Amino acid sequence: MEIKKGIAVSPGVSIAKSLIIDSEDYRIPRRSVSPSQRITEIQRLRNAFGFAISELTRLGASIDQAEGGKIKDIFAVHLRFLRDRSLRKRITDYIHAQSVTAEYAVSTVLREIASHFAKVKDAYISERAADVYDIERRLLKQLLGRKREDVRHLTEEVVVVARELSPTQTAVFNKQFVKAMATDAGGRTSHTAIVARALGIPAVVALENLSEIVVGGDVVIVDGNRGIVVVNPDEDTIREYEQYSRDFVELEHRLDGLRQKPAVTRDGQRITLLGNIEFRDEAGLVLEKGGEGIGLYRTEFLYLNSPQEPTEQAHYEAYAETIRALGDRPVTIRTMDLGADKYTQSKRFVPEPNPFLGLRSIRFCLQNLPMFKTQLHAILRASVLGNVKIMFPLITNLQELKQAKTILRDVMEDLDDEGISYKRDLDVGIMIETPSAALTAASLSRDADFFSIGTNDLTQYTLAVDRGNELVSTLYSSADPAVLRLIRTVIQDARKAQIDVTICGEMAGEPEYVMLLLGMGFRTISLAPPMIPEIKQVIRSVTIEQCNQVARKVLGMSSERHIANYLRAAARKIIPEAF
Ligand code: PEP
Ligand code: MG
Repeated sequence: MEIKKGIAVSPGVSIAKSLIIDSEDYRIPRRSVSPSQRITEIQRLRNAFGFAISELTRLGASIDQAEGGKIKDIFAVHLRFLRDRSLRKRITDYIHAQSVTAEYAVSTVLREIASHFAKVKDAYISERAADVYDIERRLLKQLLGRKREDVRHLTEEVVVVARELSPTQTAVFNKQFVKAMATDAGGRTSHTAIVARALGIPAVVALENLSEIVVGGDVVIVDGNRGIVVVNPDEDTIREYEQYSRDFVELEHRLDGLRQKPAVTRDGQRITLLGNIEFRDEAGLVLEKGGEGIGLYRTEFLYLNSPQEPTEQAHYEAYAETIRALGDRPVTIRTMDLGADKYTQSKRFVPEPNPFLGLRSIRFCLQNLPMFKTQLHAILRASVLGNVKIMFPLITNLQELKQAKTILRDVMEDLDDEGISYKRDLDVGIMIETPSAALTAASLSRDADFFSIGTNDLTQYTLAVDRGNELVSTLYSSADPAVLRLIRTVIQDARKAQIDVTICGEMAGEPEYVMLLLGMGFRTISLAPPMIPEIKQVIRSVTIEQCNQVARKVLGMSSERHIANYLRAAARKIIPEAF
């Protein structure tokens, strides 16, 4: 049994066999074996070669020479490779010398050969690298067996273990079978973590070398509440966690009982709780958890979980379904925040040196006008169905906002020409996610109907700390005085301009921040739907006067550590059961 501590990013507890997802290029973690196990590994290698050869021979025989001559030739080349004794000897020697698993030896040796081929100037030879990768894949499929199954075609419950998972990979997880996830890399506000919460999959990140320790099929416990992962737990630990999991589900049910009760402080201040969603089917969850609308619809996920770029009609249908589910409650549709770690179908393989500072979000949209206009067209068309607002993300200056609004007006004119109706006076607001936007909030407020503060990015850009990088995760904190001062500036400027200001970063779903946020003046908060009941419970346990005191005290502090400790202690004093 081995216990690892990481960062808890999505609540809940699950126990299941592990499924290792390597990065998309099938890299296998190095795993050592004892000298006596080397014979077993070499036997596994022999079997894998044997299976791969018979599979290829069978496939080759089933292809008609006239129709599939070229494919038959490729199979013949692969078979020659697999029958080459010197190749097998090289891998066997590697297992002997390094005492590693057969899969690691296969992957290392074949990758060496492939990169050798790839460097040769002759096109015919360099193209052979692809054949070697194919052979690697075929052998690994045999060696890793069902545990190397494609995550999209699961048939049993698993805990997904990986070095790193992209939001795109996570977005297609089937939550019926993926019971939890655990990764070596990642941070609490990374988009992958956000997707895990959206899907309701317990998750722990920043587990250092977990993916090297776990072998496919090992039983793994993921405790997404406390950030703990247990590999190959003993019977007692399993029993203990099964009980803990039942208690947690019971607590969630109890909190769900708050659904019908208003989010009101003990001294009568009404707070509006909205939900953040990534997928259209979460709209129902927002209502189930007691949310009063949608404060952030991350529409870029329409691009991440489908193989093709969505058409205007696909956009429309997603928005229409969500708006209809919400009736006359507000639905704030954020235009796509693509780029950085969230790529489009066509841009997926174009790397940028600093993607979070690159062609992301509104910048991407302003450089890809047909795509942007397609989305705006669909949002406007759907706007007649309910209470829709449009929100532009990652605005860094006034010119960007004006440009985005000009495009919106162009699309409105197109709709007029087409005779299609839309809500002419819908609110158009912006996210405040950059220090530049926060510092120029007063001038931005003249062109925006509302502000929504995205503290995930605001924290990242203010502190120059990557929100998804576990190596600097201890430096990433929205309780930093610099971040809090920017938030205060935005609230003050919004008040002066008499426009609404809300918060939709992950900070809004953390119970210890509630008093501070209310004390700073927020009356509308948008958060991950599963967190709504817990945040409501905190709101119902405090008075605005207590919150004001907390905010006054915190805004006078100059150290993040003091602020974080103070907030935790203040919250624990008022609602000890939540902490
Ligand atoms: C934010 O940055 O706080 C935010 C809500 O946007 P996202 O998490 O999608 O970047
Ligand atoms: Mg953001």
